[in-house]
Amino acid sequence: MDRVTIFDTTLRDGEQSPGINLNIKEKLEVAEQLSRLGVDIIEGGFPQTSVGDFEAVRAISETVKGPTIAALARANEMDIDRAWEAIRSAPKPRIHVFLSTSDIHRKYMLNATEDEIVAQAVAGVQRAKSYCEDVEFSPQDATRTDWEFLFQIISATIEAGATTINIPDTVGYALPHDFGAMIRACYEAVPQLNDVTVSVHCHNDLGLAVANSLEAVRQGVRQVEVAVNGIGERAGNCSLEEIVMAIKTRRDLLEVETGINTKEIARTSRLVSLLTGYSVQRNKAIVGENAFSHESGIHQHGVLQDRLTYEIITAEEIGVEGGKIVLGKHSGRHAFAKTLEEMGFQLGKEELNRAFTRFKELVDRKIQITDKDLEAIVADEIQSVEEVYTLESLQVAGGTHLAPTATVRLLREGQPITESAIGDGMVDAVYGAILRATGMEAQLISFNVAAVTGGAEALGDVSVQIQIDGERYTGRGISTDIVEASGRAFINALNRAARAHRVARGDEPTP
Ligand SMILES: [Zn+2]
Repeated sequence: MDRVTIFDTTLRDGEQSPGINLNIKEKLEVAEQLSRLGVDIIEGGFPQTSVGDFEAVRAISETVKGPTIAALARANEMDIDRAWEAIRSAPKPRIHVFLSTSDIHRKYMLNATEDEIVAQAVAGVQRAKSYCEDVEFSPQDATRTDWEFLFQIISATIEAGATTINIPDTVGYALPHDFGAMIRACYEAVPQLNDVTVSVHCHNDLGLAVANSLEAVRQGVRQVEVAVNGIGERAGNCSLEEIVMAIKTRRDLLEVETGINTKEIARTSRLVSLLTGYSVQRNKAIVGENAFSHESGIHQHGVLQDRLTYEIITAEEIGVEGGKIVLGKHSGRHAFAKTLEEMGFQLGKEELNRAFTRFKELVDRKIQITDKDLEAIVADEIQSVEEVYTLESLQVAGGTHLAPTATVRLLREGQPITESAIGDGMVDAVYGAILRATGMEAQLISFNVAAVTGGAEALGDVSVQIQIDGERYTGRGISTDIVEASGRAFINALNRAARAHRVARGDEPTP
């Protein structure tokens, strides 16, 4: 059976979603998990846009084994040289060069003629090829590009050495049947496409990214570009879990397969959600909380008789069983470290110490610790690697008749800062005190509380989004106490903002 390769862009396109700012350690952890999941290519970032992106792609190239590591570059020497610098230590490096080809992008963004665009794309691919055998080219905004011009640039870049041609629906404009027709037309007009890998990169502005990608596969495309939980620019990218499970479940019609170990899907989804602060909608296909629960009586009856009456895939297939009790009150450091290792987390000594301290605090309040609790603790510790501010202690007082007041003690580079504030509620008071302590000004945009696992002693999981000078940052915090989790989430978002100011980021439009 033909294999469709999975090109994961969670760390590049996904990470460009508003408010997501992953640090190097977080990106590495996601990349390691993507490798366990079995993706074929990891697009680690866009090295030229920021020092943080460059360092993350380099770290991934040096440590993550298995997948090809790709770096994005515009079709210019500086970007391509920088991309190569970042991925050169990867056993399987790929440079992904892109350039806009649609009339609207050409006129308003590039101010260049068609001939100039072709020349620039060819020069870019040739330069990338001088460094590495594996070169992908993307004509950005392909679905709004004049077909004749698209054929011309595809043919010229294959001639120049591109080994993968990606046809992006950059603005999520295509419908399945017309996207399929376009792919078919490309194969007919440019027979050399049969000698390279053809890829698609679909955005979800009309909710059709997965449908469009599947249609492209039906037309012969053998690489799809995807992101975990479908995150990405605007409405996001083609969702990894949805297209993989569609291909697996309807093998009978599609007659292709992927190399994904689907049992790692649920965990990958949880990790990406924890680290990005983007929670997954309840009714999301495959990984939503409701994907395997049945409400209606008739359905429940049927499922009790035989799950296949109303389920086309099983929870076990995507590894959703989770919630296993793995540790308890008497588990020591050795058992803790061993369990994390078995779960695939590789923590440094200092992180392990901090995670163990958090674990001990947690077992004092909660008796049984599940794998989901551990994932949340580890995610919390990974997030705190580059913290400017850490929470030392927190005290709140309030109630029906008492004005809520909070006192927080933060550490900034080892120096304690203590501040108090009164608020409309406990969380508001805590946020007021934190803002005073940091001297930052931020507006709270959204606030969400969820439980990591069920029950009254559950670990509370708070995610917030804040805005500072027009830029958004997400933060996440966990604790058995909701007020403390809220404080941690807020500080986490402020830390991301503080870090983002140190590492300037470009805002180039990308495919
Ligand atoms: Zn994109």
